Amino acid sequence: MKAPPFAYRRAENLTAACALLDAHGGNARILAGGQSLIPTLNLRLSQPELLIDISQIADLRGIRVGANEVVIGALTRHVDIERSADLARLCPTLVEAARHIAHPAIRNRGTIGGSIALADPAAEWPAAALAFNMTFTAASSKGERTLSATGFFKGLYETALEPGEVLKSIHVPLPAAGGKAAFGELTRRSGDYAIAGAFVNANLSGGRLSGVRIAFFGVATQPVLAVGAMQALEGTGGDAAALSAARARLEADLDPIADLYNSRATKLHLSGVLLGRLVAKLFA
Ligand SMILES: Cc1cc2nc3c(=O)[nH]c(=O)nc-3n(C[C@H](O)[C@H](O)[C@H](O)COP(=O)(O)OP(=O)(O)OC[C@H]3O[C@@H](n4cnc5c(N)ncnc54)[C@H](O)[C@@H]3O)c2cc1C
Repeated sequence: MKAPPFAYRRAENLTAACALLDAHGGNARILAGGQSLIPTLNLRLSQPELLIDISQIADLRGIRVGANEVVIGALTRHVDIERSADLARLCPTLVEAARHIAHPAIRNRGTIGGSIALADPAAEWPAAALAFNMTFTAASSKGERTLSATGFFKGLYETALEPGEVLKSIHVPLPAAGGKAAFGELTRRSGDYAIAGAFVNANLSGGRLSGVRIAFFGVATQPVLAVGAMQALEGTGGDAAALSAARARLEADLDPIADLYNSRATKLHLSGVLLGRLVAKLFA
């Protein structure tokens, strides 16, 4: 199938992109890497009148290390994260996760901003944003605002971005001393979307976990902070009893939807298995 007809404008800068969004309202869509939007058009699931191509706005690209955070431009591609020496040093879990996104051809074009704005419940970056307590900068013709990842993902492909807003940057807090993180996902084949995946992020001091954040993907209609499991692990040494309590809380935390191959019960079971592996990694 081919995409329905649409007009195309390349925005030279963020101001121009926002002005085009204002002028065309709900009939326009931002085009970043095109790795999700173009297939959607080809399948005629979406029929915008105008595509606003932001892919050449250099200011939206790149990874910059600040005093307390790493700032990732929305147009930074998955492959740029995969190859970033700064992230490998400071947030290696993100580098590891990037390697699990689709295949190299898609990682060469797809962007972190596109993934977060799309909010696919099975995607890696939205869950990473929750686990690492990231914040986002959104820009519009009215100015800029900061949004927390917690509360940003509202439902299936639904976010807190307002009409007329462009996601500009993603802010990753630098880990504190003793910061530990782990990532894992279970897939049928390499490159597939995960059946279940998770990020665990915590501080480890004196053999005890604190500030535990656990985010799952692929197991609900949106990425999920597993609040019950987080509470069960907080202050513990990640021992068998704590882990068993955390696993038991997943039933209330997650709301898996059966797919062609996996029932709800299977997804819940796999999420518990994954949690055990990731907590063990924190102590490795
Ligand atoms: C076969 C296949 C397998 C894939 N597997 C995975 C996978 O395993 N894991 C995974 O996470 N992803 C996967 N993807 C999706 C891929 O990672 C996309 O690149 C990503 O989801 C969207 O990024 P993009 O830059 O291509 O965005 P686009 O496709 O250009 O845009 C996606 C949506 O976000 C909006 N948007 C884009 N950028 C912005 C912005 N800065 N501000 C506001 N709105 C914006 C667009 O209007 C559109 O609605 C897969 C894709 C394909 C085709």
